[in-house]
Amino acid sequence: MDAFLRELGDIPHTREASALRVKSADFSWFSPIMSAVLDGRTAEVVLSPRTEEEAVRIASACARHRIPLVARGAGTGNFGQAVPLAGGAVVEMLGLDRLIWQRGNVARAQAGIRLGVLDTQLRRQGREMRMHPSTKKLATLGGFVGGGHAGVGTVNWGILRDRGNLLGLKIITIEETPRVLELRGDDVNLVHHAYGVNGLVTEVELPLAPAYEWLDMVVVFDDFERAAEFGMALATADGILKKLVSVHAWPIPSYFQPLCIPEGKAAALLMIGAETREGFEALVRDYAGTITQCVPEAGIYEYTWGHTTMHALRADRGLTYLVCIFPRDDTVGAIRRVHRKLGAEVFMHLEFKRFAGYMTAEGVPLFRYQGFEQMTRLYKSFEAEGVRIANVHTFLLQNGGMKDIDAAQIGFKRRVDPYLLMNPGKVAGLDDLPGGISGAALEAAQLPASGWAY
Ligand SMILES: Cc1cc2nc3c(=O)[nH]c(=O)nc-3n(C[C@H](O)[C@H](O)[C@H](O)COP(=O)(O)OP(=O)(O)OC[C@H]3O[C@@H](n4cnc5c(N)ncnc54)[C@H](O)[C@@H]3O)c2cc1C
Repeated sequence: MDAFLRELGDIPHTREASALRVKSADFSWFSPIMSAVLDGRTAEVVLSPRTEEEAVRIASACARHRIPLVARGAGTGNFGQAVPLAGGAVVEMLGLDRLIWQRGNVARAQAGIRLGVLDTQLRRQGREMRMHPSTKKLATLGGFVGGGHAGVGTVNWGILRDRGNLLGLKIITIEETPRVLELRGDDVNLVHHAYGVNGLVTEVELPLAPAYEWLDMVVVFDDFERAAEFGMALATADGILKKLVSVHAWPIPSYFQPLCIPEGKAAALLMIGAETREGFEALVRDYAGTITQCVPEAGIYEYTWGHTTMHALRADRGLTYLVCIFPRDDTVGAIRRVHRKLGAEVFMHLEFKRFAGYMTAEGVPLFRYQGFEQMTRLYKSFEAEGVRIANVHTFLLQNGGMKDIDAAQIGFKRRVDPYLLMNPGKVAGLDDLPGGISGAALEAAQLPASGWAY
C-alpha cells in the first residue's frame, strides 16, 4: 500500500480511521440482513481524484499493484454497492463535478457532479433531467448510473436502462496502461446498474426534458384502494403533466410528519404541472380525494421512492421492506388483492412508473421484520398474485434481479478489468466472496426473488 500511495504523489487521499469508516459505508443498513453482513467492512485508503488524468493514474497504479478499488459517488446506494468487501481503495469521484456542455436537449457532465447541482444548472436553460432518484441533492451522476435504476420522472420516461435514457458514457479501464473508452447506444447498459465493476465512469451524456413549473401536491383518501385507483388514473391521464405519482397506505403517512396528513388516511404525494392544474383537480374530484397541500416545488419527492423507506426506518428500526413490480395487464387488480390479503402485515407504498413500455406500479411495501421465513412467505404471497419481486436484501448483483449478468457482461468485465479489481465480491461466481462473509449473505441471496430484468 505504501509503494502504491507514493506513486500517486499529490492525489488527495486519507487513511484516517473515521474517514475510512464513513466512506466505506452506504445505506445497506436499510436491510437487516445486509447490515449484519456488511457492517465494519472498510477500505484501507480513500482516494479523491480531481481530474480525469488523476483517475487514470489511480486506475494504472491499482492494476500494477493489484489493489482492489470501489468507485464511490455520494454513497447513497442501498444495496451495499459501494461497500468494499476486500479492503483496498475507495475512489471518491466527487472532484469530477463539471457540467461539460449542454446543447438543446442533450447534456454531458462529469460523473462526480451531484444531481441536484446538475439539475439546477440545466433549469437555467429551460431543461431538466428526465428522471432522478429521490436522493437528487446528494447523489452523483456516476452513482445513479452505477447503482440506481429509476425515480422521479419515471412515470413519464421509463427507467434508466430504457433505450434513449442514457446516450453515452466515458470509462477508464483498470489496466497498467488504462484505456479511455466511449460507450454509446445499447453498450451503456454494460455499465449501468453494474455496481461499478466495469470501469471508472468519468463522463455521462444524457437526454433532457423540458423544465416545467411543478407543484408539490398531497391528496388524501379515505381508503388505500381508492388512492391506488386514483394513482393509476393520474399516471395514465395523458393530458395532465406529472412527474411523480407516489401512493401510501396508512400508517406510512404518519412517518411524514411535516406533511400533517390526517390520521388513518391514504395519501398520494405528487408533482403536477401548474398549467394542467384544473384538469388535475377534476380528476381528484372524480376519485373523492381531498387536496391538503399544493405549493410550488419544494422537495416533496424527498418523502417518496427510497426516502419513504428511510423516513419509516428512522421512526421504527423494526421495519424492513421489499421491492416488487405489479403485473402490467392487471396492476390495480393485483394491488387490491395483495392489499386485501396482506394489508394487516404489509403497509403498501406504490410508485407509478412506466416499465417495459407500460404504465404499472413499483411496490416498496414496509413490514415488521421477523426473519427469513417470513420474508420468503411474503415473497411467495406476492408472486402468487402475479407480482414480481426484486431481492433488495443482497449485495450480489445478479441476485438483486434487476440485471441479467450474461456472457456479454462477463466478457466486457474481463476486458475492462482483467485482474478483477473493481468492487470484488459483488458478482457471484466471478470472484470468490472475500473471507468473513457469513452464510447469511448467501442465504439472503437465495431468497426466491423472481427478478425484473427484461
Ligand atoms: C433514501 C434513499 C432514496 C433512494 N431513492 C432512489 C431512487 O429514487 N431511485 C434510484 O434509482 N435509487 C435510489 N436510491 C439509491 C441511490 O441513492 C441512487 O442509486 C443514487 O443515484 C446513488 O448515487 P451515489 O452517488 O450515492 O452512488 P454510490 O452509492 O456512491 O454508488 C452506487 C454504485 O455506483 C458505483 N459508482 C459510483 N460512482 C461511480 C463511477 N464514477 N464509476 C463507476 N462506478 C461508480 C459504486 O461503486 C456503487 O456500486 C435511494 C437511496 C436512498 C438511501
